[in-house]
Amino acid sequence: MSKKGEIVLSGVRPTGQLHLGNYFGALRNYVKMQEEYNCYFFIADLHSLTTHPDTRELREHILSVTSYYLASGLDPDKCVLYCQSDLPQTTELYLYLNMLAYKGELEKTTTFKDKIKQHPENVNAGLLTYPVLMASDILIHRAHYVPVGKDQEQHLEMTRTFGNRFNHRYGEVFPEPKAFNYGAQLLKVPSLDGAGKMSKSENQYATIYLSDDDDLIRKKVMKAKTDSGPTEPNSEKPDYIVNIFDMMKLVSDPSAIEKYEADFNACTIRYGDLKKQLAEDMVRFISPIREKAKAIREDERALSIILKVGAQKAAENAEKTMQMVRQAMGLKYF
Ligand code: ATP
Ligand code: MG
Repeated sequence: MSKKGEIVLSGVRPTGQLHLGNYFGALRNYVKMQEEYNCYFFIADLHSLTTHPDTRELREHILSVTSYYLASGLDPDKCVLYCQSDLPQTTELYLYLNMLAYKGELEKTTTFKDKIKQHPENVNAGLLTYPVLMASDILIHRAHYVPVGKDQEQHLEMTRTFGNRFNHRYGEVFPEPKAFNYGAQLLKVPSLDGAGKMSKSENQYATIYLSDDDDLIRKKVMKAKTDSGPTEPNSEKPDYIVNIFDMMKLVSDPSAIEKYEADFNACTIRYGDLKKQLAEDMVRFISPIREKAKAIREDERALSIILKVGAQKAAENAEKTMQMVRQAMGLKYF
């Protein structure tokens, strides 16, 4: 299939093992989009420094994320895969965009407010300007679409703001990038305890990782919060039960979901059976990806070549953007 001209950019932080939220919020769309668009997918190692200053595990996590990218179906012949720190053009753009981002608006960002509550001992300037670095990742490729989960919606809005500010001040360089999920609402895969979303670095016991073994997946699902069941026919589902049904929609057969919906409405539902069904469907979905990623991870040389070649391809496009940026800003003196 010949590709459309639009450019796609997205990435994942190497802060730990990938989970179901990363897969359904992001990776699933990456794999589809690589067939249709000019795609750049990266591993956001610089972003991870804002909350994970210890770099000892970075290399392992970068290799692991790359393995899961490939195991999920990303093909380095169809898209560009690279590591953020291999593209110095991004950090140059970040510097210029920082002059167009205001302290007040950065302080109001939801993720910043959450993170400073979680880590009051490490409120660094990189954390405050996280949305500026993210805007640079996107704008450096002059991207049109950004496949992300719901948690990134506000950052995308800020990216548009910074890009537009640049265009107004210095002249048109950047298109307006949009969050993308094939026309559907952006997704949030909830954590199993009902508190927030699944996450690499938080809610770890209520998050299902793509690296979890079959028994651990079963254990985590069986611990998901339920109650003694509805007492009135057709009652409204509590949030934590909605979450379980939402997760079934990701991995289970529609006929199984219909059966449990009917049981719920008739007050005959047995939550133990519902969770068993969900657990088995999760295992069926995750185990082939996990095993593939394990095999891919073993060939470190192949992984490093993929990332090096990807960085070269990404640099070609990024350098074009930076020439436009420096020209527009009048930073070319001679
Ligand atoms: P961390 O806790 O280290 O921030 P994370 O799980 O939030 O990790 P990110 O690397 O920040 O993962 O995000 C990678 C991609 O996965 C983003 O597109 C983000 O929107 C998406 N994503 C993360 N968590 C979820 C979730 N629970 N549901 C849907 N999408 C998600
Ligand atoms: Mg995150």
